[in-house]
Order: sequence, then structure tokens, then C-alpha cells
Amino acid sequence: MNSLAVPINDLRRCQSEDRELIVEAVNRVIESGQYILGDEVRAFEREFAGFSGVAHAIAMGNGTDALELALRVLGMGPGKRVATVANAAFYATTAVNAVGAEAVYVDVDRQSHLMDISLLRSLVEREAVDAIVVTHLYGRLHDMPTLLAIADSRGIPVIEDCAQAHGAQQDGKRAGSFGRLGCFSFYPTKNLGCFGDGGAVVTNDDTLASGLVKLRQYGWEAKYRVGQIGGRNSRLDEIQAAILRIKLRHLDVNNGRRRKIAQTYSARIRNNRVKCPVIDGEIHVAHLFVIRVAERASLMAHLAGHSIGCDIHYPIPDHFQPALRSGPVPHLPVTEELSNHVLTLPCFPGLNDAEIESVIAAVNSWTP
Ligand SMILES: *Cc1c(COP(=O)(O)O)cnc(C)c1O
Repeated sequence: MNSLAVPINDLRRCQSEDRELIVEAVNRVIESGQYILGDEVRAFEREFAGFSGVAHAIAMGNGTDALELALRVLGMGPGKRVATVANAAFYATTAVNAVGAEAVYVDVDRQSHLMDISLLRSLVEREAVDAIVVTHLYGRLHDMPTLLAIADSRGIPVIEDCAQAHGAQQDGKRAGSFGRLGCFSFYPTKNLGCFGDGGAVVTNDDTLASGLVKLRQYGWEAKYRVGQIGGRNSRLDEIQAAILRIKLRHLDVNNGRRRKIAQTYSARIRNNRVKCPVIDGEIHVAHLFVIRVAERASLMAHLAGHSIGCDIHYPIPDHFQPALRSGPVPHLPVTEELSNHVLTLPCFPGLNDAEIESVIAAVNSWTP
């Protein structure tokens, strides 16, 4: 997959500890003759809800569908305004567009890269907002008590985008259990990833949960009987569910490894031109280790010269995407600045000590 001395990621390394269990589980599913929304999916939904500390998990085809159906079950559609951020890769915007609502972008905080809480506060005081999608970017939970206080004071429902924050916790509560709904992706590179596409929504709300069960399968309330309009087909495969059940058991350990690597980087990278993130305990699951550097192209060339992988998450803010070349463009100065300065260094559970040392030495030896 990657011939670099230190790859930005290598998914093959993440499967080794579970290889036999996974092959066994896949064989079990093949033997069962049941391949979609069967026993494995039901068991995974139960186990993932338990892990997340919520009453329900509803498995879906991917994380973007999870966001879309979460918006839909809350009644978001034409004429509704959804506050979110513009500094990922168009995920929330895709879902907002799919239901026909309008995305209202809030700029982010320069340190955390998360939605700027004071800008959110002034937005909801000034304008109508019908829902908030908060993205726990790079694996860091937003300050949910503060954000929920703002949302609750106006009765605005909050959807957590947890696609980079599986297992992150604050005060003993897991990602996805703070808002009305929490959305997850199980894309292979995520902290909890399967061998294809997968997603889920978690919630404590019985009514929303039963709405989502209908929406993910044509609006059926029972086989061939449509109880809800606006349904889709977005289901999780039995094979993916069986794999996720095995990988869920190692999630906390793997998150700990990611956090350890990130904390080592933050402690040992010493270069005045580079700003490292603060990885402060279980609130952060270090999905990506993202530094800020003004002379980014120069550092990227230097890393390439040392055969060290890197990547940019994310280079184009949502409101600057070329497909959107019409209408008024909001001004999001911090989002825009960060898109020019962010750089991701290798940080995944299979990275070894020598590789971590190479990354640190290469960054420390760089001058533009
Ligand atoms: C990956 C990701 C998504 C989308 O998940 P898919 O399964 O690829 O549809 C949504 N939000 C964030 C923050 C992500 O990182």
C-alpha cells in the first residue's frame, strides 16, 4: 500500500492481532446464509450502544448516510437552517444538502480546530438555527456541556459527528451520548473501522430510534409496509458487523496507543515554526495528529525527502469548494487560514517506536 519508510497510515498492520478471529467470523456469516441486517448487525448494535452508554444504536451504510438520516428524523428539510463547520471534507454539508436544508457555517477556534463556541452563541442569538451538527474533529470532543447549554437554552437539537472520535470521553460519557443523536462512520481508516463502508447513529430517544430504523430501509415499519416517507436504503452488512464486533473490543486499547504516539510527538517535537496540538487525556482519541505550520510546502518537501508520509486534512473549506461557484460566500477567517497551515503526521496504532523517532527527528531538523 505504501512504500514510504514511514507511511501516513497502513491498514494492514491494524488487522494482525485479530486476523484469525476475523476470518472465523466471516466464515460464520457465510455459513449463516444471512447477509444484511441479521443477527450480527443486531448484536453489534446492542454492543455499540452499550459501549457508547446509550439506549440505541442503528447501523447504516456509511457515516454520511448516518448524518443525513439523523437530520431527516429531526425534521430538517427545505427552509431549515443547520449550523455546522466548514473545515472538514464536505461531510456534514453533503448531508445537509441531501435533505434540502441550508448549511450555516460557524468559524472554528484556532487552537482546537472545533466550532468556535462564542460565535455559535452570537449566531443563535442573532438568527434562526434549527439544528447544530458539531464535529469532534481529529478525535477531540467539543466542550459539550457548554455547547449543549447554548443549544438547550433555545431548544435547538444537537447532532454529534463522531466519525473521528469513537470512544472519546469526558466525565465518563462517550462521544455520541451528549447530543440528541450521535453519528459514526466505520470507514476503514477511522478509529473503529470495518473492511468496507459502515456507519451508525446512536441515541437515547426511543421515538428517534424507531424513526431511524424505518428511514434506513425504505421507510418500512414492517416488511413491505411503509410507515414513514423520506426513507432510503442504507444498511450495514452482516460481514462488516461481525468484523466491527471483534474490533470494538480493542478500541480503547488502540485509542490509548494513538494518544501515546500523539503525546510523544507533542512533547518531543521542538521546532519554533511548528505548533503541535494539545492531546489532553481521554477527551482526545488522536484520530489524526495535525500540526500547524505556515511554511507548509517546505516542510512537506523535507518530509518527502526523509520518506515520511504526510497529508492535509483538509485543504479546501466547504464554502470554497469549486462546485459551489455561485451565491454569497461566507467569510470564515480562521477556517481559511487553517486550511493553508494544517499538516497531518503519521499517527496510527501500528506505528513503531523507530518510526515515531524518525518523524520527530525529521520535523526537528527542518528549516524552511
Ligand atoms: C469520515 C467522515 C464522515 C463520513 O463518513 P463516511 O462513512 O465516509 O460517509 C463524516 N464526518 C467526518 C468528520 C468524517 O471524518
